[in-house]
Amino acid sequence: MKAIVYKSSMKVELEEVEDPRIEAATDAIIRISTSGICGSDLHMYEGRTSVTPGTVLGHENMGIVEKVGSAVTSIQVGDRVVIPFNVACGFCLNCERGFTSACLTVNADAPTGGYGYAGMGPYRGGQAEYLRVPFADFNCLKLPGAQGDSHEDDFLLLSDVFPTAYHATELAKVMPGSTVAVFGAGPVGLLAALSSLIKGASEVYIVDHYKDRLKKAEQIGAIPIDFSKGDPAEQIMELRKKNSLINGSLRPGEEKMAGVMCGIDAVGYQARSFDSPRKENPIQVMQSLVKIINPTGNLGIVGVYTAADPHGVNKKAKEGVFELPFGELFEKGISLGTGQCPVKKYNRFLRDLIISGRVKPSFIVSHRVSLEEAPGPTRNLTSAEMVSPKYC
Ligand code: ZN
Ligand code: ZN
Repeated sequence: MKAIVYKSSMKVELEEVEDPRIEAATDAIIRISTSGICGSDLHMYEGRTSVTPGTVLGHENMGIVEKVGSAVTSIQVGDRVVIPFNVACGFCLNCERGFTSACLTVNADAPTGGYGYAGMGPYRGGQAEYLRVPFADFNCLKLPGAQGDSHEDDFLLLSDVFPTAYHATELAKVMPGSTVAVFGAGPVGLLAALSSLIKGASEVYIVDHYKDRLKKAEQIGAIPIDFSKGDPAEQIMELRKKNSLINGSLRPGEEKMAGVMCGIDAVGYQARSFDSPRKENPIQVMQSLVKIINPTGNLGIVGVYTAADPHGVNKKAKEGVFELPFGELFEKGISLGTGQCPVKKYNRFLRDLIISGRVKPSFIVSHRVSLEEAPGPTRNLTSAEMVSPKYC
């Protein structure tokens, strides 16, 4: 089959690789209809992980079941399915507790498994024609409709981006009436804003500097904050202070809650400096969030931070050590939630929101490319395509 293979930093190629086959009776083989390119893929692409050359990329996968092993009972050839980026067994201590992002049996090297990703086990990715899915009964989510219909992009986002965004709102404890600040208006940030709104948040601020992203945020009812126009935490506090309805509801003393109750980091360690976005500043987003979150509030971090980054901006960043204003965080009593999303906890319910027409997360999709358009031995990237990509 054809697959996108990681070669070296800034180099991937479309290659012929061996077709996947049923290796265990619980496996299924999926013919990929659509696969996403993730901000997390860019961390590998840019040489910011320990990914092994030869890895087939792609952890955001959906398609049609092509073959099933003899022990697969609930998924049939021809079914349309979307696959969580987590590879999980369904029966270990962590899977049984709902933490399929920390499965203990699918990866000998770490308590987590995933497709086509550094450190997440031997599983090939789905930026390819076919994908092997272990524990297929557990890992496939069945979808209605047919390949290429009007829900294709919506359903694809159930593999990672939409559940990860929703997970951020769970970590940040967003509830009806909550005030929320989301940093990063990439795919995850925009869908974290959407998730906050469908949970009934009263105010959702979203911080970025790309105008097209901020416009999309505004279209779904979030309040755009452009960090190129000044300190984003100050801007949010200023907007809240100027709102006479918010002001008019405060008792004396309550002005101490000038920020928001829920903060979300949808950026991670490759964050751009607010002052000079061409440079990286891995700690500025967290510093800003600790500033804008009110006493007793909650911080959810789903932007990626890694324990080793060969190209970190300084020695500490290379070791995955990031300074947090911990004293302020402690004094404010802010609770903190981090980590990969356990996709299976949410994907079924988010699918049903799509089916019922309550949400259409594909409003974030801007580009579609075929496998054949990937760089290969016969095709090099043009200079325009090599311009530094945007992140989720
Ligand atoms: Zn992803
Ligand atoms: Zn497990």
